[in-house]
Amino acid sequence: MKIQDNTLQRQAEAGLGDGSPRSPQSFDADDMAWREPMPALKPRYGRLGDAFYTPVAGTPLPEPKVAHFNAELAEELGIESGLNEPLLAILAGNRPWPGYPSIASVYAGHQFGAWVPQLGDGRALLIAEIQTPAGERRELQLKGSGPTPYSRGLDGRAVLRSSIREYLCSEAMHHLGVPTTRCLSLIGSVEPVQRETVETAAVVCRVSSSFIRFGHFEYFFHRRQPEQLAVLAEHVIAEQFPHLHGQPDRHARWLAEVVERTAHLMAQWQALGFCHGVMNTDNFSVLGLTLDYGPFGFMDRFRQYHVCNHSDYEGRYAYGAQPQIGQWNCSRLLRACLPLLADDPQAALEIATGIFEQYAPAHNQAMMRRWADKLGLFDVRESDTELVNAFLSILQRGKNDFTRSFRHLSRLETNHDGPAAGIREEMTDLEAFDAWIGDYRARLRSECNTDDAARAARMNRVNPKYVLRNHLAQTAIEYAAVGDHSELARLMELLKRPYEEQAEREAYAAEPPADRRSVEVSCSS
Ligand code: AMP
Ligand code: MG
Repeated sequence: MKIQDNTLQRQAEAGLGDGSPRSPQSFDADDMAWREPMPALKPRYGRLGDAFYTPVAGTPLPEPKVAHFNAELAEELGIESGLNEPLLAILAGNRPWPGYPSIASVYAGHQFGAWVPQLGDGRALLIAEIQTPAGERRELQLKGSGPTPYSRGLDGRAVLRSSIREYLCSEAMHHLGVPTTRCLSLIGSVEPVQRETVETAAVVCRVSSSFIRFGHFEYFFHRRQPEQLAVLAEHVIAEQFPHLHGQPDRHARWLAEVVERTAHLMAQWQALGFCHGVMNTDNFSVLGLTLDYGPFGFMDRFRQYHVCNHSDYEGRYAYGAQPQIGQWNCSRLLRACLPLLADDPQAALEIATGIFEQYAPAHNQAMMRRWADKLGLFDVRESDTELVNAFLSILQRGKNDFTRSFRHLSRLETNHDGPAAGIREEMTDLEAFDAWIGDYRARLRSECNTDDAARAARMNRVNPKYVLRNHLAQTAIEYAAVGDHSELARLMELLKRPYEEQAEREAYAAEPPADRRSVEVSCSS
């Protein structure tokens, strides 16, 4: 792979070192200005070799301005300096992390079901691999930092609008308890970017223990490069699945874990009414993390066929289809990893099939557990599927709000048969709802522990009060477009405690006002 300019050549020649922190003396003259304590580098991915990535420097972002800095995450990462000038320059893509040449990785993927033989970090750069004070390895990746050899003619930028959405949602998901990549910083700029209209550029710094996607494996499989496939698998297993490292059946066990994590992740998304929007295999993490937030959405009104991405004309990634798509994506990963499973193709296929077949039971079990938790039930019974489906049908027919309706259920008094106060008011089909409440009360009374207060507390820990509704993100975007980042900061605070009542923030739990109900979310970002 080609190196793009002289600075990079210099960086690449300097090498990535042996994983131990570099002494300040080895930094460039420019980097000598850096006196603040930084987390120790721990390069691993960046040492795999040039089949996996290309060194690329960020394209300078003019007049970078901090829209948000995640100080809590910075502390976890061991960045003690806070956001000073040198760090701002790094997070804007204007200078490299000392001692680490930034790289863009290559991958492929199935986009809306169609095979695309080469994608890659078209606007992302891995800028550092570090060790946190707690001893964990983290990768820092810029998104929107300019073109790379994988940009396919696009500009390598991300607009402020979509960057705010990714920033808010990845933190929201983290605090909801969903595995996800995270965001450290959001830097805006005056640079114009052409989308449907002219917008401005922004750079987000994402943080994850790895950004490796299903598509990374598909790339090497389809290019018939089994050696690179094996190198990548060893890297992922050694770094992310250390309990499997060196085991003779490590590949099968690793893949079984990926399949299980994916099945669980889909259950978590469903239970929160979260729609990803672009579930292409290049947006699926081999760690089972939510990755690449584009036209995602938390449903307001419940609809099984809700499609959050207005460019998804066929509804391939509709809410109700997500579990099956997760399964299909696993089938693509397993296919790509066949050469790792056995030398004999038939034997490899049998192992892969056995792993694939674990997806459905793992997902169904996780899904039923989550629905049961949302209803405050201790044990899961077969008949509970019907109870859940009946409630969802009532919500769908009545165009009722998903998040609010589940949250309100915790108010139910089990031991008298009057109207369900505090729940019924927002329901539409009252006859069906009253009948359902009768069944639900009967079900709750049959539990071993029927204490209402304890059940309400349990339910409120799984049914969030606050989610990142589209209209909330949109308001923060509109403020930020005129240079006011206060709403972004308020939302970040709000979404840190999604399960708690925040009396002064009650309005954020409301349904969108009628004129904000259909905020358009396209693939353009
Ligand atoms: P996404 O839809 O954001 O997951 O992107 C799909 C592929 O297109 C990835 O390889 C991205 O890096 C690339 N891509 C998307 N937008 C841009 C852009 N503005 N510039 C360069 N590459 C892009
Ligand atoms: Mg992507």
